[in-house]
Amino acid sequence: MEGQHQRVCLIHYHEIGLKGRNRSVFEKRLVKNVEALLSGAPVVTIHRISGRLCVFLKEGTSFEVAAALADSIAGVPGIARVSCGYKCERELVEMGDVAVKALSECDEFETFKVHARRNHTDFETDSMEMNQIIGSRLCEAYPQKKVKMKDPDVTVVVEVIQNAAYIYARSKRGIGGLPVGSSGKVMCLLSSGIDSPVALWKLARRGAICIGVHFSGRPQTSDESEYLVDDIARVLEKTGCIARTYIVPLGDCQKQIALVAPPSLRVILYRRLMFKVAERIARLEGAGALVTGESLGQVASQTLDNIRATDDAVELPVFRPLIGTDKLEIIEEAQRLGTFEISSQDAPDCCTLFMPRNPETHAKLPAVLEAETAYDLETWIDDLVEAAEIHDYACPSYKPRKRVD
Ligand code: ATP
Ligand code: MG
Repeated sequence: MEGQHQRVCLIHYHEIGLKGRNRSVFEKRLVKNVEALLSGAPVVTIHRISGRLCVFLKEGTSFEVAAALADSIAGVPGIARVSCGYKCERELVEMGDVAVKALSECDEFETFKVHARRNHTDFETDSMEMNQIIGSRLCEAYPQKKVKMKDPDVTVVVEVIQNAAYIYARSKRGIGGLPVGSSGKVMCLLSSGIDSPVALWKLARRGAICIGVHFSGRPQTSDESEYLVDDIARVLEKTGCIARTYIVPLGDCQKQIALVAPPSLRVILYRRLMFKVAERIARLEGAGALVTGESLGQVASQTLDNIRATDDAVELPVFRPLIGTDKLEIIEEAQRLGTFEISSQDAPDCCTLFMPRNPETHAKLPAVLEAETAYDLETWIDDLVEAAEIHDYACPSYKPRKRVD
């Protein structure tokens, strides 16, 4: 029996389905992103079938491998659901056998139902009859399990499409959103902390190509935070959510600021400098916005006054997708994303460097601008961008621009 029926993963993408005439662009983007994720996996081909993507797996692919693939596909932006199952002949006895096999691959369950559909009336058995025939076959095979029409633990889906039947039971929700590459490009300020990777991921999930910029305390601190950021980027890369990072050594500039500026304004001044450098890189990359992991009131720099004083440093819009999110919720998201453990490690970055005892929580813009005249910001920005190290990650929709410097 094994090998006779081709194993498939079916990818459902509801939100794209709603996008009207952009639909085919999004579908093509999604196919490319999924193909990139699956390069190296035992995949024969990926086809669009009746508003889904069907990933055909190589003969002999084990259930464990197929399930692991389905789980990783579920994390790709733009995917609503991924199901594991089989393609077989449009023949009811065979379809019943395959349904038994598909159900056997589900995790523990007590109740189930069959949901059959045909999208060609040239298949003579209608969906009601298919439900009955395959339902009773499953009842014979699983006498200890119960059929339940409303909210069963598992639904065995039987779809007769074109010249084949697709049958699946194991199904997992995807992260939703839009395929990366369908909403432009953004520049994300990426610390090695818990919040900013989640903020970046949220923009990637809405289809933006995300480029990270990390400010390390080098040469005034070690480069530990840079390694953590690389580890974080590798997690985000698994689902195509990050294209590249710029690593900027900020330590010397911070030291200078600490020497010449009022201590209470240091944090704001560091942050304005970070924003300005990020904006410059954004322009080089053609990115349309900055993104941070700020959450209102979480720390001293995240008050309305201070947010205003940092936003004033740049022209580009600054997105803060976590502004209304509680820390515990952010932690849960970071755990689901797989970055929490990495972010929980302590590493000195530019945030821990030259911190004043009493940072200003309600910075007034005139005082900030006055303090900023004590150093040559434009030259610093040029030098910092020049000193940035670039790391590239797999993101199929990203085409690097040539550096114009
Ligand atoms: P996170 O957990 O993301 O580090 P946080 O709660 O520690 O956030 P802050 O240190 O005030 O808060 O940083 C606020 C935001 O500023 C971060 O989410 C990030 O977007 C940006 N940021 C802070 N430090 C850095 C850094 N060293 N490099 C790049 N961006 C940074
Ligand atoms: Mg931080």
